[in-house]
Amino acid sequence: MTDAVHRASDVPAPGFPTLPMMGPLLVALPCLLAALLGFNSYSPYGADAALGIAVGAAAVVAMAQTLILAARPPLVEPLFGGLDRMYRVHKWLGISAMVLMILHQQIEPDFERTVRETGLGELGEEAGEFAFNALLALIAVSWFRRLPFIGLEIPYQIWRFSHRFMGALFAMVVFHQFFVDMPTGVDPSLSMLLNTFGIAGVIAWIYTELIAPRLRRRAFTITEISQTGDTTTVTLRPEGRAMRWRPGQFAFVRAPEAGLSEPHPFTIASAPRPDGTLAFSVRALGGWTRDLPRALRAGTRVQIEGPYGRFDFRKGGARQIWLAGGIGITPFLAWAESLTEAERRDIHLVHCVRTQEDAIGVETLRAAVARNPRFSFEVVVTTRDGRLTAERLIGAAPFAVKDADLWFCGPTGLKDGILKGLKAQGQMPRRVRFEQFEFV
Ligand SMILES: Cc1cc2nc3c(=O)[nH]c(=O)nc-3n(C[C@H](O)[C@H](O)[C@H](O)COP(=O)(O)OP(=O)(O)OC[C@H]3O[C@@H](n4cnc5c(N)ncnc54)[C@H](O)[C@@H]3O)c2cc1C
Repeated sequence: MTDAVHRASDVPAPGFPTLPMMGPLLVALPCLLAALLGFNSYSPYGADAALGIAVGAAAVVAMAQTLILAARPPLVEPLFGGLDRMYRVHKWLGISAMVLMILHQQIEPDFERTVRETGLGELGEEAGEFAFNALLALIAVSWFRRLPFIGLEIPYQIWRFSHRFMGALFAMVVFHQFFVDMPTGVDPSLSMLLNTFGIAGVIAWIYTELIAPRLRRRAFTITEISQTGDTTTVTLRPEGRAMRWRPGQFAFVRAPEAGLSEPHPFTIASAPRPDGTLAFSVRALGGWTRDLPRALRAGTRVQIEGPYGRFDFRKGGARQIWLAGGIGITPFLAWAESLTEAERRDIHLVHCVRTQEDAIGVETLRAAVARNPRFSFEVVVTTRDGRLTAERLIGAAPFAVKDADLWFCGPTGLKDGILKGLKAQGQMPRRVRFEQFEFV
């Protein structure tokens, strides 16, 4: 499986209705407000000072919001159209904060002649200076996690570990903002706004690092574990309260007692069941996933945090093509298991795999066909059948592809190739919705 299969994202193609623009708008507005308030309140001290304060204020609010989004607030997720999109906004907010901080540093407002300097103010100055440099380094590390052209990638664990310090450095920025010597008699609205966001950001960070992991995790025990090629399927039973999820959602999995303490995201490859059991199918792609089959066995306790995601075929139309590449089959297995005879949609699933061994979940798919004749599927084995082409997809689908929605999960190359072919044949689907296994 190529690198592209490590990815998860739930991104509609043009034409898909999107409430999710609300999220980016909601985070941009407070940044804009802070900049305007900053500029307005400090304009009597000259354009340079006002601009320096404006960009610094916007940076504080942007940074605070990156930490708030990192706390994965479940009520806010729908405004972004899913966790992956929320993470994308989080990433771009962080990058914007970095640019704004650099500008603030360059146009540093100088109030030395207008304020009485204090010891605490000096400490605030130094805290700001230190946090600025350290944050700059951390944001740069996050941004250039994968170095372009040379393909060097910082190991996820190191990246994640360095990311954890952002909140501590932001607390120093808040300290700087609280105590740095500033002229008196300025409209307090800006300070109020910055203090509110500053405190909210620090609380969000503490929540993310210390509280959420305990609140959100649920304990499960492995009841079954099986191996097909380099894919391991584990079935788990809840120890306490069961988890509620919709087919197509994913969760973060960790098994500290088996030495897998880093949480990794996986799609729940089964539909909700009365006994609360669920399954994950994990393809060995890197260190953690390669260790998994050796580390886990029946009886091992696993912690699960979730569910997340909004990949849901029930939002789509009456005719649907489901296209999976390799391990990208997992959301479709959950969907297929959830299909009942009452389902009125016509659905055709194509699973592209390299070898027959990679075709996991065929039993689940056969059972779905038996329950509902409107559902059909085929497995395209590249080493046997050659690569899937748009022509072949058009020929195999029991309805015109241009009248259907296309739901996709797998390597980007497969999606792009098929869409290009469909376009050339005048069979572009009505809507394209896809899930990639990576937060970008
Ligand atoms: C929403 C979602 C659903 C997924 N569903 C499945 C699934 O059903 N089956 C499956 O086999 N794989 C799935 N994946 C991919 C799986 O999470 C990665 O393959 C796995 O985390 C790789 O970890 P590694 O240490 O083995 O490999 P590494 O070589 O360390 O990582 C490979 C890549 O995986 C990503 N990654 C690594 N660790 C994490 C992490 N803790 N959190 C987020 N991304 C990480 C990074 O982008 C990295 O570049 C899913 C990913 C996401 C985001």
